[in-house]
Amino acid sequence: MTEPTNVPADPAPDPASTSRRCPCGSGDVYGGCCARFHGRYAADGTLAAPTAEALMRSRYAAFALAATGELAEAEAYLLATWAPETRPAQLALDGPADESGDQVRWLRLDVESTAGGGPFDDDGSVTFTAHFRTPAGRHTQHETSRFVRRSGTWLYRDGDAS
Ligand SMILES: [Zn+2]
Repeated sequence: MTEPTNVPADPAPDPASTSRRCPCGSGDVYGGCCARFHGRYAADGTLAAPTAEALMRSRYAAFALAATGELAEAEAYLLATWAPETRPAQLALDGPADESGDQVRWLRLDVESTAGGGPFDDDGSVTFTAHFRTPAGRHTQHETSRFVRRSGTWLYRDGDAS
């Protein structure tokens, strides 16, 4: 039997590949969902999410991919999509597991309702439950996030955990 030639080595695992399901839970593949907004921002700084919900999902996906070390631009994207008046100076994102063992894994996002936040609105809110896991167990975060649209760009402003 002849060994085939030019067979590429097993590719490194690439869970952020555009063909897997988007971490935002939309049911679409990442490439057809939040990767469009992450990629556009990485390419030229454009924030392209057309609705508050799309922005919310892309921010959740950025958190999820930051936690697994798969989106280099995650922190920059999260800060860029934050309204200047409430934006923190920097984020302390949880990276991949390290010796500290305090890794967060974002498991699922359930968007429960939205108000406003459409192409013809200037503000809106999204109520959601985010499911995540830490070494201590599984947790949920229920929150209503508020968004504003300025110069056609949706930005996260603040939120109420409940
Ligand atoms: Zn998505």
